[in-house]
Amino acid sequence: MPISPRRSTTTGLIDEAAWTPALSARQPDGARALKIASERTLRNVFSTQTKRTVPTGVQSRRWDKSIRPRGPRPPTITTSQILYNESRVRAVVPAIEAHALAKRYGRVDALRGINLSVNRGEFFGLFGPNGAGKTTMLRILTGQLRPTSGSARVLDVDVVQEPLRVKSLVGIVPEVESPPSYLTGFEYLYFVGRVRQVDGIDRRINRWFDFFDLEDSRNALCKDLSKGTRQKLMLAAAFFHDPALAFLDEPFINLDPIYQRRLKGFLEEYVSGGGTVFMASHLLDIAEKLCDRVAVIQNGALIALGSVDEVRGREADLESAFLRLVGA
Ligand code: ATP
Repeated sequence: MPISPRRSTTTGLIDEAAWTPALSARQPDGARALKIASERTLRNVFSTQTKRTVPTGVQSRRWDKSIRPRGPRPPTITTSQILYNESRVRAVVPAIEAHALAKRYGRVDALRGINLSVNRGEFFGLFGPNGAGKTTMLRILTGQLRPTSGSARVLDVDVVQEPLRVKSLVGIVPEVESPPSYLTGFEYLYFVGRVRQVDGIDRRINRWFDFFDLEDSRNALCKDLSKGTRQKLMLAAAFFHDPALAFLDEPFINLDPIYQRRLKGFLEEYVSGGGTVFMASHLLDIAEKLCDRVAVIQNGALIALGSVDEVRGREADLESAFLRLVGA
């Protein structure tokens, strides 16, 4: 029997309690796992928000006595000043800044002192041979992994000090993860919407269902979907809350040429609208067309960094330049 979440008669939104029997029937621990994951994630997001402090000299529009830091209240300033300060900070502070970032797994030096800065509104590509350190870099910058040494700030937030806040701000498409097998496509995106605390969840889901032609996944369990459809759901989830910065690990993988083109168009628009993309990929022909700047990493160290033209140099294309750079 297809599972259709019950809607609240007052809000029109889905009552999460209604999922419980359905999920239990599908997978013995499914309902419990969803409840725990949902509560934990919501708690993390909330705790991230309550830890938030108001930057010096900038009065938050959401100033709340319950989260007011100790000490004198900052002077009140006008909305125009806030907007001015916020846009100035946005323009000046890079989207990503990494200083001497290093990661050691036992005897393996996965990253060896990476220095990198990515500007707002930039489409940045990171390339490297298998095992070069790309995923490690992405996981550190998204607060999923602690570096052994060095530091990094993402959207002006320290990834080591406030990893949950980083996760709450950015969109992430991880390399190998799939949506939870025991949820339908609709339930997965609804869950993402609740965790991200966005408004208009149904509207957003419909938008993504339209964009990626996902209607068939509405009532189908994710475990029964094709790899490409699962990837589309992961992409929809990454952009569901309109993040200012998206980390994409092989976003085009498993997409057929139709949806590769659709995704390319979306990412181009996202960046021209002010969004920032940090993409790790092996697909150099696609990256060459999309990226503003690229870096090549090998054995945990950056061996090239610059605009696509700079890194391509005299070679015919980025792939030839890459092969020369890594000595293949
Ligand atoms: P690929 O292109 O194959 O996905 P990558 O560039 O993403 O590779 P990473 O996955 O970051 O590379 O791995 C960098 C190095 O760190 C590799 O030598 C890898 O074996 C090692 N490594 C990664 N994760 C771990 C781990 N959890 N424990 C031990 N070593 C690890």
